[in-house]
Amino acid sequence: AYVIAEPCIDVLDRACVEECPVDCIYEGDRALYIHPDECVDCGACEPVCPVDAIFYEDDVPPEWSAFIADNTHFFEKP
Ligand code: SF4
Repeated sequence: AYVIAEPCIDVLDRACVEECPVDCIYEGDRALYIHPDECVDCGACEPVCPVDAIFYEDDVPPEWSAFIADNTHFFEKP
């Protein structure tokens, strides 16, 4: 799945939300999150992000690797 990392925090541009064909990008308090099971890895969201916050999970920069788990945990909240 694709992952949204730190640059999204307090930006929430939402250009990606418009692009996603399966509507799997959800809004949190301070950032957007991609549902890891719903994402179909189409890559459409990545180039439209104005702050380059979106990465394929294997390509997330090491300093932001924690955001991979964050995207998953966001959807595990009750
Ligand atoms: Fe949606 Fe495609 Fe981005 Fe996954 S890669 S979040 S399916 S636009």
